[in-house]
Amino acid sequence: MDAPTPLHFQRCSSCGSAVHPPRPMCPVCGSVALAFEESAGEGTVYSSSTVHAREGAYDVSLVDLDEGYRVMTTVTGGGVIGARVHGRVEDADDGPRLVFDP
Ligand SMILES: [Zn+2]
Repeated sequence: MDAPTPLHFQRCSSCGSAVHPPRPMCPVCGSVALAFEESAGEGTVYSSSTVHAREGAYDVSLVDLDEGYRVMTTVTGGGVIGARVHGRVEDADDGPRLVFDP
């Protein structure tokens, strides 16, 4: 079992919108009353594609988190649109990165 994801996002205190990546102002209502919340890391694959690079093929997916925001990420084994996924932090050569498992 992986450790819980330390994924955080902002929530607008005025209109309740989830905001990610972090901004100084809510893109929906313009409020500057934004507070960080911790995400449970549970989401649904919105879209997925395979990038064929010189180093090999890898997955690039957009995942809608249950809290109401979207991230660009990698789904292990390739994303399937509509599938439920769970985020975790993985150690990569260039530092920690967020990945999702089915
Ligand atoms: Zn707002």
